[in-house]
Amino acid sequence: MTSTPDPVSGNSLDPENWDEFRDFAHGVLDDAMDYLANVRERPVWQPVPETVREALRAPMPRHGSGAAAAYAEYRRLIEPYPLGNIHPRFWGWVIGTGTPLGVLAEMLTATLNTNAAGHQQGATFVELQVVEWLRDLMGFPEGASGILANGGSIANQIALAVARNTMAPFDVRSHGLTGGPRLMVYASAETHNSVPRAVELLGMGSESFAAIPVEGDLTIDVAALRERIAVDRRLGHHPMCVVANAGTVNTGAVDPIDALADLCEEEGLWLHVDGAFGALAVLDPASRDLLKGMERADSLAFDLHKWMYLPYEVACTLIRDGKKHTATFEHHADYLAEIGGGIATGPVMFADYSPQLSRSFRALKVWLNIQAYGIDRFADAIARNVRQAAFLATLVGQEQSLELLAPVPLNIVNFRYRASNMEDGALNILNARILAALQERGIAVPSSTELNGKFALRVAITNHRSRREDFEALVEAVIALGREFSEVEQGG
Ligand SMILES: *Cc1c(COP(=O)(O)O)cnc(C)c1O
Repeated sequence: MTSTPDPVSGNSLDPENWDEFRDFAHGVLDDAMDYLANVRERPVWQPVPETVREALRAPMPRHGSGAAAAYAEYRRLIEPYPLGNIHPRFWGWVIGTGTPLGVLAEMLTATLNTNAAGHQQGATFVELQVVEWLRDLMGFPEGASGILANGGSIANQIALAVARNTMAPFDVRSHGLTGGPRLMVYASAETHNSVPRAVELLGMGSESFAAIPVEGDLTIDVAALRERIAVDRRLGHHPMCVVANAGTVNTGAVDPIDALADLCEEEGLWLHVDGAFGALAVLDPASRDLLKGMERADSLAFDLHKWMYLPYEVACTLIRDGKKHTATFEHHADYLAEIGGGIATGPVMFADYSPQLSRSFRALKVWLNIQAYGIDRFADAIARNVRQAAFLATLVGQEQSLELLAPVPLNIVNFRYRASNMEDGALNILNARILAALQERGIAVPSSTELNGKFALRVAITNHRSRREDFEALVEAVIALGREFSEVEQGG
């Protein structure tokens, strides 16, 4: 007797044999732990070979090869060619390291696979708890609200949306921006481009972003800011917001937030703080004073995937007045209404706090990591990174052939190799070659920036794995490469 298959049932995407899949999964986890435990033995980075790129341009398979074969391809094509940021000698851009517990947290997140949109479920209460922890950590009052976002760029944008809707002299939600005065946002010329991008995306236009000159230490020139606000008022514009930097991306400069908070009070402006990484310096007793005034801000955005070392993606926006927060995002929908019982009994829908509806449960990795390590372990690592930056600056200062290019207020060091009798133009080319070689030889990964026309090797330390010898190795390598390349130049 043969049975015809039931077209209403059929194979799910679950394994046919759970025991086999379990063994396979254990093997994957073992490999992952080896990969992390042995990271120091591998090059920081290596280029992706053409054969690999080619293999990753294959047509979409109609029939699968099975989990084990797909995983083998991951091991061959993807795992050997990482960005490098889990390595102890990666200090490029501002990129966090991740934690081994974070790996498990991401696995558990996918296991629950919840939509953390809100409603009554454990995930909702975890996120509320995490936001409350972060609110207290940053010195924001009860009544402040917050939301986890996917990164600092979006966290800034969420805050600026609330600022815009609160501060516009007309109802942005119903009328839009048409016809109103130009709404002005001010920040230093060293501000991360996510801020002007947010201003554009919020429909205010790039001319609504005013880049204010900086002082010698690369913090905002408050007098120039005051002047620009007065000029804009005379022109009929509507000044609405100052964005203070708690750690600029180039050098880690921290604007005088307290003074900016005073100015905003006097002028009736919204104070937003972009603390993408620098806000976490509140955890370092030696750095905390730099951030004075941050707790007075109307809003604050910061990443947890940078200087809290948590896996991508997770950031946070805090809004001092929670009512203003929901007034920007709240929207009624019949299909989301409470029904007096069941899942939809609240206590919250996170769509009232950001543009996202369906969301990953990113609060879990935050909660698990803080539960497991305790916040003091993170504080130790952050304080150590600040000391490491000072240590590297000292090493640079001791070398005749190296030159520090900017102050080091936090965790970012900018320097360059300096050969006698070479002009800035030639030094820029030489240092770019040094940087490329550091990366291509898998030695270390700084990134670069330009400061006063000088190409800088830029070391941003948001890495809990780095040790003293890693910075010593960097300095040694830069000097050796500088000699190698300038000798070639002089010889040829
Ligand atoms: C990284 C960074 C951002 C953007 O954050 P993402 O998480 O990359 O979106 C904004 N501001 C500063 C100062 C940053 O360093």
